[in-house]
Amino acid sequence: MRTAPEAHFPSDYRSGRAAFLAACKAAGLSAITRVHPKAEGRDGKPLFLDTTSVGAREANSALLLISGTHGVEGYFGSGVQSGLLQEGIAAAVPKGAKLVLLHALNPYGFSWDRRVDEDNIDINRNFVDHSNPPTNEAYAALSEWIAPKDISPEAMKAANAKLRAYAEAHGAFALQEAISKGQHAFPDGLYFGGQRDSWSSEMLRDILREELAAVKKLIVIDFHTGLGAHGEGEMISEDLPGSAPYLRAKKMWRARVKSNEAGESVSAPLTGTIDKAFAAWMKGCELTFAALEMGTLPTREVFSALRHDNWLHRIAGAAHAAALRFLRAASGGDPLWDVDAVEGRAADLGPASDAPLDARAALRALPPLIKGYWRLGAKFGPQAVVDADFGATDVFTVMPVAEIEPRYLEYFACDRAAPLAA
Ligand SMILES: [Zn+2]
Repeated sequence: MRTAPEAHFPSDYRSGRAAFLAACKAAGLSAITRVHPKAEGRDGKPLFLDTTSVGAREANSALLLISGTHGVEGYFGSGVQSGLLQEGIAAAVPKGAKLVLLHALNPYGFSWDRRVDEDNIDINRNFVDHSNPPTNEAYAALSEWIAPKDISPEAMKAANAKLRAYAEAHGAFALQEAISKGQHAFPDGLYFGGQRDSWSSEMLRDILREELAAVKKLIVIDFHTGLGAHGEGEMISEDLPGSAPYLRAKKMWRARVKSNEAGESVSAPLTGTIDKAFAAWMKGCELTFAALEMGTLPTREVFSALRHDNWLHRIAGAAHAAALRFLRAASGGDPLWDVDAVEGRAADLGPASDAPLDARAALRALPPLIKGYWRLGAKFGPQAVVDADFGATDVFTVMPVAEIEPRYLEYFACDRAAPLAA
C-alpha cells in the first residue's frame, strides 16, 4: 500500500517511535530496544534507540538506514523508515542480503527538537581520536561570534558583521567550513564534536558488531535535513570523484551524489563523521555511504535557529547558574531547604564555593522578583530546572515569613501582630 509521503512524518519523537514499532510489528519483525541510561525525553519519559532487521544473520551484503543522527532531523528519517516498512520493504529484501533500520540514533535530540545530544555533542562530528582531536582554528577565532552570549538584536548584528567580514576576506564557503566542520574545544559552542565518545556513538558501534559483523558489502544511508534548496535531496559522499565508492554511489543515485570533500556539495568538508567512522570500521569491505540531506529552510534561518537553540540550552542556563549560586551563597544555603529538583531534570548549579565574586554581575542577571525575595530573606534550593518550553529557569524558593526583617514589614505597613508573622 502506498500513502502520500507526508502522511508518514511523525509529529514528535514519541509518535515517530510508536509508528516505527507498529510498522515493525505489522511486518512481522521484532525490534531491539536500547534504553538511554541517563537522558530523558521532553515529556520526562525514557528515551530509546530502536533497531530492526530483515534477512539472515550471516548475510554478507546489507543496507543500513539511520535516522535521527541530528535529533531534530529525525522527523524525516523516522517517517521514511516507517513508510518503507508500511509499504512492504521487508518482503522485498533479496535472499542473502540484510536490511537494518536504526531508529533515532540520537533520541534526546529528536525528543527535545535539538540537533545535538544531551551533552551538546554533534554525533556526526564525534567519531575522532579524542586523545588527539582535529583542530579548527577558524572556529576558535570566530567562536564568540558564532555562538554569541548576548542575542539582543544589536549584539547579533555586531556578531554577524564579524562573520561577514570573515566571509569577505576568505570566501563564503570558508566561513561555512569554519562554523560547521566540527570543533572539540568549545563544549558550549556549535558543531561541538565532544571530548569523548557519546552514548549514540557507542551504540552505533555496538549495532555494527551485533548486526553487521559478517557483512562484506555495506550500503549506508544516514538521513539528514536542513541544507540545500527546500525539498531538494542530495546524497552527500565523503569520497573523492573517481574513487571506487564514489563511482558505486553514482551508479545507484546518479546526479544526486555530491562529494563534499571535492567541494561539489551543499556541505563543507567535515571531521569526525559517521561516514569516516564506517570507513575505518569496515576496512577491507565494500562500503558505499551517503548522507541524504534534504533542504528545508534557507541556510541563514537554519543557522539562526541553531544559535538561538544553543543560547537557550547552553548559555542562558549557565548565566543563571552563576547568579543562582551567588543567591544561594548569599542567602546562607540553609540545609533545611535543600530540596532537589525532579530526578533527571536538575541543572546542578555547582558548589556554593564557586559563587561569583562579582555580586553586581550576579544581581544584574537576576529578574527583579527573585532579587526582591532575596532581599526579604528568602532561601533558595541547590538546583534549578531549565524549562525550554517557556524559555525560563525554575528554582525552588521559600520565604519564611518569620524571618522577614521588621523594616520591610514596616515598609509594607503590615501589622506585626497579624497572623502573617506567626
Ligand atoms: Zn544533519
